Amino acid sequence: MADHVNNTRVFIDCDDTLLLFDSEGEANLYGFWKGDPYKVNEELVNVLRQTCKTCFTLIIWSGGGKKYAKAVSDEVFGDLGEIDAWFCKDFTTFDLVRSEDIVIDDQALTVPGVQLRPDDTERLRELLHDHAGMFPIA
Ligand SMILES: [Mg+2]
Repeated sequence: MADHVNNTRVFIDCDDTLLLFDSEGEANLYGFWKGDPYKVNEELVNVLRQTCKTCFTLIIWSGGGKKYAKAVSDEVFGDLGEIDAWFCKDFTTFDLVRSEDIVIDDQALTVPGVQLRPDDTERLRELLHDHAGMFPIA
């Protein structure tokens, strides 16, 4: 049994967070499904790929619903088992976020936890590193 259990969860938005659409500033509702041009936010994805190795729980969610979140997740992460869950991001799921959790989104949400912008990967690295230190080396 570990002395410390890190159950911090990371909630990650899809549109304009994991996927950066070319049409900046415009709403891209279902942009991935519609075929709107985008780039994958590789810097963020790389940090998150490292993260899954330290037992963080990664949750992808989207205002476009669970299936949209899963589709974006498969595109970005492939099917490598890094992601733990997919949710619709709305008033029915905001209560899932706890004060020790991390939320990455291009928009401010009314949820507890630390909220980070999609390009704030430096701070994300720091936060995850701090939490990872709670784990005994296996
Ligand atoms: Mg978004």
